[in-house]
Formats: sequence, C-alpha cells, structure tokens
Amino acid sequence: MQKATHQLTKQHNSRLILKMIYEQQEISRADIARETNLTRTTVSSIVADLMDEGLVRETGLGPSIGGKPPRLLQLAEDARQLLCLDLSASYFRGALVNLRGEMSQRVDVAVNGRTAAAALTLVHDLINQLQSRTNAPLLGIGIGTPGLVDAACGIVLDAVNLGWHDLPLRALLEEQYGLPVYVGNDSHVAALASYSFDPHETDNLVLIKAGRGIGAGIVLNGQLFVGDGFGAGEIGHVTVVEEGELCSCGHRGCLETVASIRGILRQVTAVTGQPDPTWEDVVQAAQAGDGRIHTIMYQAGAHLGTAVAHLIGILNTRHIVIAGQLSRAGEPFLAGVQTAVSQRVLPAMAAGTHISYTTLGDDVVLMGASALVLKQQLGVI
Ligand SMILES: [Zn+2]
Repeated sequence: MQKATHQLTKQHNSRLILKMIYEQQEISRADIARETNLTRTTVSSIVADLMDEGLVRETGLGPSIGGKPPRLLQLAEDARQLLCLDLSASYFRGALVNLRGEMSQRVDVAVNGRTAAAALTLVHDLINQLQSRTNAPLLGIGIGTPGLVDAACGIVLDAVNLGWHDLPLRALLEEQYGLPVYVGNDSHVAALASYSFDPHETDNLVLIKAGRGIGAGIVLNGQLFVGDGFGAGEIGHVTVVEEGELCSCGHRGCLETVASIRGILRQVTAVTGQPDPTWEDVVQAAQAGDGRIHTIMYQAGAHLGTAVAHLIGILNTRHIVIAGQLSRAGEPFLAGVQTAVSQRVLPAMAAGTHISYTTLGDDVVLMGASALVLKQQLGVI
C-alpha cells in the first residue's frame, strides 16, 4: 500500500515537473523546486529520470545569482512522436506530431463515401502509412472523429456519415498497434487544440467547428466539458428558421440547413443560378466583393450568431473561436455572427465577448488529437 502511494506521488511529481518544463521553455532545477515546493533532491532525482527517458535535456547556463550559474532544462520536443488523425472531413487526414504540436509526414486519403468496415480499413491504412515513417518512439494515437463519442471509453457511439455505431475504436486500435489510443469528437478536440495552442486569457472557451456540419466544443475551467451524454455543443440541429428547409435529421430549419457549407452553397445556387458552386468559388466571390454572396455569407453568420448567443447566455465565455472550413468565410460571415450576438445577449456581456476565427487553420482537429494524447500521457496540457 505504502509502495503504491509512493509510486503515485512520484508519478504526480514527475508530471508536475514535466509540465513546468513544458510551459517555461527553459528552467533551472532550483527554480522548479521553488515553484513546485518540492525539495531540490526530489527535483534532481525526477529530472534525472526524465533525462534518462529522453524527454528532457540540459541546454545552456542560466544567469548566476551568486555562485555557479545553473544549468537550464528544456523539453526534448522530438523525443517522441504522436500519430494523429482527423476523420471529420471528406478525406481522412493524418500526421506525425512532435511534443510541441509541430507536424510532419502528413497523409490524406479520400473517403469516397466509404462507411462502416471500409472506413475503418481506411483508418488502418492511414495509421500503417504513418507508423512506417516515424523517427522517434510513438507516445500514442490521437483521433478526432465526427459523431457522438464516449471519450472515456474510446467508443464512437454514433457517427452517421461514417456508418459507425457503438464502434469500440480505441479497443480495436490498441489491440492492433499496442499503443495508447485516445478518441474524441472533432469539435471537442478542436476546442482543446484552441485552448492548448492558441493564446487565450481565461480558462473558458467555446469553439464552433463549422463546415459540412456544425458543432461546438466547450472548455470550462481548463477542462473539456462533454455533457452527460457526450453531446455538449451539438448546436447544428437547433432550429434557427421556423418552418425552414427540411434537414437530414427530420426537423426543419436546423442551423446546418442555413449555415453549413452545404446550406450556403444551396443558397448561392438559388440566388445566382450557378448549378454546382464550390466552396472555393464562393469564398473568392465574397472576397472579390460580389454583393449577393456577401449577403448570403452575412445571413449565414447571423444564423450561427443566433445559436452562439444562447451559448454565451448560458456560459458567459469571453472567447468564441470559429474553426473548420467556415473559418475561411471572411469578413461578412464573421460580421453576421458578431451582429447577431450583439443583438441577442445582454449588451454588457456582448461587449465583453471576443468572437474570432481560429489561427490554427485546417490543422485544428489534428492538433486537438495531439493535445488529447499529450494531456493523457504526459499531463503537460
Ligand atoms: Zn437537423
């Protein structure tokens, strides 16, 4: 019993010290001891272990405060790699990621409508391709997938587009590859990415991932909030247009019918007569100042803003980040969101809310998948 407690304490201290080194970029043993209230002996012993594992290295000398200048410690960011997958788009994306979230060896494979077992085979293909390209030991596999996900058990409860129901993705992959596997909903892990890799001022954040579908990820007090049934942030099927277009879910006027890529393209066709516009065409037309597209984008943003206003009213989070393909929709879409929010929440709360596009681009889910692994395996996020 005592031994088990000792082991737990050591593991806790080790995570604490590694987190400090991760956050500080460079730090001396003495400063770690001061910041953590651990003894110098404990810090030195744990740092020696972390150096043996290759996770920490000594770099230069710090400034002397009388006596010998201290040796500084740094995270060895390339000591491990993470294998990360984003299964949320029309092609599955994968990459190897180092401990600082920097990506290499990207692989994309088109899904081409494959579902169920065929989609799972594609996941295996992607992992196999990436695994053969590693140049450091793999710390684990992180996956962002659409649908309802029991992240604690790694089970995809329901991913309609992929035809996955109660799929024990984590168990299947852990058995196959012998590595720790973490699975999360794509919007949820994207929120974790934004929280972990984007500068922010508070411990709360809402990320809206909008593209083919629309969903939100919610971080509260630095922790992902997934809800009682893992569906926190499922705002895509909230009604925003009474008696509106029929949605794939069976209801009418859902947010996705008017503010998803498909919803916007449908409206572009209705207004311009262009039969099959691509998202790139529409973004370019908006940038070129096409007034009709500008109006459609603005109104789509306003519909999203209606749903976001409810989130702000409930959560009062100051940071709302928009990610996914809609993050390239430009100024009119964002203005639509901001205006609708300012009209629908208490003015004092609207004034304190910052709504912006993500700075992480298309990699937001991959980075979120890496954050899942880093959080669980090393405790540094
Ligand atoms: Zn719907």
